[in-house]
Amino acid sequence: MKKIIFFLGKGGVGKSTLSISLAHFFSQRKDKVYLASIDPAHNLCDILNLSPFVGEKEIKPNFWIEEIRIEDFLKKTLFDIEKKMQHLYAYLTVINLENMFDIIKYTPGMEELASLFALKDIVKKLDDKDFLKKLQGVIIKDGEKLSGINKPIIIKNLDKLPVPAYHLLRSRYGKFFDLEFFSSKCTGVETSRGCPFRCRFCSREIAGMNVYRAKSAERVIRELDYVTDLGYRSIVIIDDNFLIGKTRAEKILRSIIDRKMGLEIFLQGVRIDSVDDSICKLMKKAGVVAIAFGIESGSQKVLDFYRKGIDLEQIRRVVKLCAENDIYTIGNFIMGAPVETRKDIENTIRFAKSLPLDFSLFFILEYTAGSDLWKAAVSEGKIDEDEYRVYADSSRGLTKFSLEELKHYQKKAYISFYADPRYMLRELRSAIKRNRTHLAKYVYVLFKHILR
Ligand code: SF4
Repeated sequence: MKKIIFFLGKGGVGKSTLSISLAHFFSQRKDKVYLASIDPAHNLCDILNLSPFVGEKEIKPNFWIEEIRIEDFLKKTLFDIEKKMQHLYAYLTVINLENMFDIIKYTPGMEELASLFALKDIVKKLDDKDFLKKLQGVIIKDGEKLSGINKPIIIKNLDKLPVPAYHLLRSRYGKFFDLEFFSSKCTGVETSRGCPFRCRFCSREIAGMNVYRAKSAERVIRELDYVTDLGYRSIVIIDDNFLIGKTRAEKILRSIIDRKMGLEIFLQGVRIDSVDDSICKLMKKAGVVAIAFGIESGSQKVLDFYRKGIDLEQIRRVVKLCAENDIYTIGNFIMGAPVETRKDIENTIRFAKSLPLDFSLFFILEYTAGSDLWKAAVSEGKIDEDEYRVYADSSRGLTKFSLEELKHYQKKAYISFYADPRYMLRELRSAIKRNRTHLAKYVYVLFKHILR
């Protein structure tokens, strides 16, 4: 049965503290708790030591919080009233109705009215929660288990989507380990969805992301114009593979150059085999400062097992090309493929160290719902259908190593990569040359983080 509890009172009486404590108590009892604050002080995040965010968030099992912006409800309430009045009394437009509403928002009682609408909305939202189970594209997670996957509708023409409401963003992006990576205000922009490749560990299919679709170059530029008008100059392109459809990518990069947009761009997903000398130079000219590559392994046997479709020589050539063009490279590696031996893991660490990479991330293989590896493991009875994320572990027949051994290799890889004096010297030199000495701090912070 649903229960709604109100914590009311003037400032400083402990509404937030008491409501959080009670919500925590209920969630421990396995009751599902949604804690909403309409207090303009917005102190839930402060008390819970969280960075502010928009919308609701599950902060621990069974416990969701949301800080409602009453200003938004006030605006919406006034807007709705204004529309109704205009409809009923058309002559009011003559007497400048909009201006009156600018004044009405300061009238005593309006905020309280907006609060009541906010509460109505919350209660409706709670009632609607079961609707989510029927919505296409919604994946329902119950604790560590999957309790439902609703196939998504694939939107083919991304140009038809409205430009996201970037002006509503309140969070600041572009920080890693609490350090600023970018030199100016940063946000993410999506120019395409999905990926036509079929790497065996990749879970793209589950969210319909195995179907590649792209916004036109003109649409992307329109979106970039919008974000730059809002003062953003640092952009993370969040696509899985920005360079698929090279003609489109080149058109976007050329427009950025021609329009002198002065951007600083981080490409979060680029396939090694889509980079050549000319695109590398064009990317540099357009303001690309960093690229993340899925390198996965230093063993050709493991790459072939994953159906990655790239080879070690290609990887070496492309990482070197980026370094020569002064573009930061981040290499992502995975350890624990079922065919992977101790020697393969050691080769991966050695290979990572031999490349002029600026950062390396070493992951333990996860069998994620929707991936070919996960499907095969489910059909072999090694994974239950409702387990959506399972670490490779020999005790479950998913790799040759125990999870503990893989963690040990992961740590060894990090220490070996980041504590290599040649790497440290190279990064320090490049950070000074690029006038980005703060990035040298990353190496230090990363290293501290790893050692912990
Ligand atoms: S790992 Fe990357 S290239 Fe491979 S299928 Fe997934 S998104 Fe595509």
